[in-house]
Amino acid sequence: MSNTTERLKGGCLCGAVQFVATGQPKAVYWCHCQSCRRHTGAPVAVFALYDLKAYTVTKGEITKFDSTPGQTRRGFCARCGSTLTCESLPGPTETHFHIGAFDQAAQLEPTKKQYFKEERLPWLHIGDAEDTSVH
Ligand SMILES: [Zn+2]
Ligand SMILES: [Zn+2]
Repeated sequence: MSNTTERLKGGCLCGAVQFVATGQPKAVYWCHCQSCRRHTGAPVAVFALYDLKAYTVTKGEITKFDSTPGQTRRGFCARCGSTLTCESLPGPTETHFHIGAFDQAAQLEPTKKQYFKEERLPWLHIGDAEDTSVH
């Protein structure tokens, strides 16, 4: 992971939702699950993980949808539909932000950690981001 600035701003495409995350993310990693694929429309998701205390929604609100009731809650902008977050239920203590939502996504280089590798699209190759662990 490259040196990340202490405060990273982000938001949705239309600007109705904006947030600021403080400090280093706890992790930056890939997720290949089909649920993330559906939510993002992209072949793979990359998340930056922050404690609830480590970020503030500074404008608007993140609209939530439970993609797997009792397990997974996903966040987006109700106005423009931008994909923003993912949280584990019950009682999330941390939020996984899709790195594309950050102004400075270039600073959020993922590690080799890949979740749900078994659901990875067979034609998707991620350079040297190979990891033999299952989760
Ligand atoms: Zn928006
Ligand atoms: Zn996923």
